[in-house]
Amino acid sequence: ASAAAVRKIAQREMSRNTLGGVRAMASLEQYSEFGKSLFTGAVADEYLKKHGASGDILNDPSWVKNHSDTVANAVFDWAIDNGANVYCHWFQPMASSGVRHGQSGQVQNIMLKFDSNNEIVQDFKGKTLIKGETDGSSYPNGGLRGTHEAGGYLAVDTSSPIFLRGDTIFIPSAFVSYYGAALDEKTPLLRANAALDKEASRLFGKLGLDVSSGVQTNIGLEQEIFLIPREEYYKRPDLQLTGRTLIGKNAPRGQEMCDHYMGPLSSATAALGCMQEIQDECYRLGIPLKTRHREVAPNQFEFAPLFGTNTTQIDQNLMVMQIIEEVAAKHGLAALLQEKPFNDVNGSGKHNNWSIATRDGVNVLDPEEFNAASGNDSAFPIVMAAIVAAIDEHGDLMRCAIASPGNDFRLGACEAPPAIVSTYLGDDMTKYMEAFMNGKSASYNPGKKTLDLGCREILPFEVPAEDRNRTSPFPYGGARFEFRAVGSAQNVSLVNTVLNTIAAEKFGEFADRIEAGEDAETVARDALKKHWKVIFNGDNYDEANQQMLTDSGVWRIDSGVEAIARLTADKNVALFEKMGVLTKDECAARQDVLHDHYAGTVEMEALTLVDMINQHIIPACKKSGVGPVADLEACVPKLKAGVAAIHAAETSNEKASLARVLRLETMIDIRETCDAAEEVVPAENWTLATYKELLFLD
Ligand code: ADP
Ligand code: MG
Repeated sequence: ASAAAVRKIAQREMSRNTLGGVRAMASLEQYSEFGKSLFTGAVADEYLKKHGASGDILNDPSWVKNHSDTVANAVFDWAIDNGANVYCHWFQPMASSGVRHGQSGQVQNIMLKFDSNNEIVQDFKGKTLIKGETDGSSYPNGGLRGTHEAGGYLAVDTSSPIFLRGDTIFIPSAFVSYYGAALDEKTPLLRANAALDKEASRLFGKLGLDVSSGVQTNIGLEQEIFLIPREEYYKRPDLQLTGRTLIGKNAPRGQEMCDHYMGPLSSATAALGCMQEIQDECYRLGIPLKTRHREVAPNQFEFAPLFGTNTTQIDQNLMVMQIIEEVAAKHGLAALLQEKPFNDVNGSGKHNNWSIATRDGVNVLDPEEFNAASGNDSAFPIVMAAIVAAIDEHGDLMRCAIASPGNDFRLGACEAPPAIVSTYLGDDMTKYMEAFMNGKSASYNPGKKTLDLGCREILPFEVPAEDRNRTSPFPYGGARFEFRAVGSAQNVSLVNTVLNTIAAEKFGEFADRIEAGEDAETVARDALKKHWKVIFNGDNYDEANQQMLTDSGVWRIDSGVEAIARLTADKNVALFEKMGVLTKDECAARQDVLHDHYAGTVEMEALTLVDMINQHIIPACKKSGVGPVADLEACVPKLKAGVAAIHAAETSNEKASLARVLRLETMIDIRETCDAAEEVVPAENWTLATYKELLFLD
């Protein structure tokens, strides 16, 4: 290695040691910080008591009307005691994605003012807390308001607690137009939750369950990321500007040996110290990141929290993504949240684990628990039948909810499930449902299998009778479904909006028919017979299986752009309107925003590639006297013409469709030319960081 390279490595080692080292030992103290920065539970209770109330008032959304000044005073005292004197309403603009802190919106205001004697006094009242108004006119709105009607209104979301970070109080809020149209990710989700609560309560109540506490869905979001050396990141305009590598010859080593997966979180890399600090920050915010491990690709890692209600989990996941980016920088690392930062090694997902439960804790997706709590052996199969029917009818919307530019490269590759929306129930559950469908006496006996390893030292032990299926987009895993096809950078509000809306509609339909006098079991059996085709327990990566599912009419939409266009399909507009989740105009606006987001992403990528070719690759070839210079020069006008065509297209849908071709055809061809150049240019003349430098921390 050259002297400069050695110096660089030495500097990196030093920066590792000085910038937040690795914790060798843990103490319980770090956990005692849990939730200290969250205005809920004991923390809120303590401060509300000082103002003559108690933490209980926060459980009823009407505190916004009846106790807003009390809550504001308590929040103010808590803020000052904890070194904060700034507040913001914190919201989630439409189509925001976690590449380069684009996830959330906020304008930060000081909670203080000066009186006529220049004394500092509190400037934070109930009415300041419960709503905000912002210009916000630059956010995409899909035509929901004119440029001159710029007002965006922020209303406190009582379902997710206020939190404190640094000198600022964050108030989770919904973001809507002057006419109440949803301009954000959160509002439709809250409406979908209301629909689910209503329709699920109707159906489950008829099946014998006590639903007086209400019904909600719980989610747990597994977050995959890459952590790469930051100085190499700065040598990649594509990573910096678009979150993924647009070119790059494979390193001689990738994930062939599977030696990264769950490999040691070695203290020799900066990754462990970084992950520890991320966990510590998250604990203070009441985010229980329970699991940390290496993932399949080199430099790929994962965190998983304990599950909870969807609005809180999503708010927390946005903070997790932000904290990951910020803490990584402190450790000399760059975090990549994008779904497919590198070619030919695995991309990143965000498994959306999803279950339905009463607020007081009966998990309806757990057959034993639900049947016992309702005193009805058919309760579970009836609800499962409704969910199966919902998936089969609205698989297009599930596909739509995971359509993001980054996920284009993941879905269908042998690392994430294909773009065919089937569900895996597992053998025992399938048998149970089949027996129920055929009117036979049915019981779910997942049984346990005993493994005997044939040695004295390890005693025989039990495993579940069912294996896992990681090739299904939506497998049932005993007590929960796991939406595995979700992308790592996504705000998963739309994902959960769709899941809750389609489930609510089916629950409502079943309840209507039962109310009209039909027998509940017959309703469920009919639905199962009609929708049985969507259950598939085999290997979803196998092409013959994919063909079979496609032929049988299971939803398959290979193109993310086409999937987004399903938002305005008649059946889906009718569904969203009936469930009170989105109006027809809101569906159209959201579709335009998602298409524009897609086209905008590709435009940035194409222009970045032009710069990389002109400023790095061609000069490197010329300097070295090697490489396909003429071919490279010919790539540039092709990219520019592609961008010009996107600009010239009339509608957002057309723009996105052209962008998709530019990206998945033209840019992939051009990549080959660039990678051929990288193969022959001597290392000292190559000015971009290589896959080897990006993918191996040590
Ligand atoms: P696995 O490898 O089985 O997916 P992980 O521990 O990586 O397990 O992640 C499981 C995730 O699912 C966690 O976030 C966990 O909190 C969540 N989860 C577990 N049970 C439920 C449930 N009933 N409802 C929603 N999420 C759940
Ligand atoms: Mg999982």
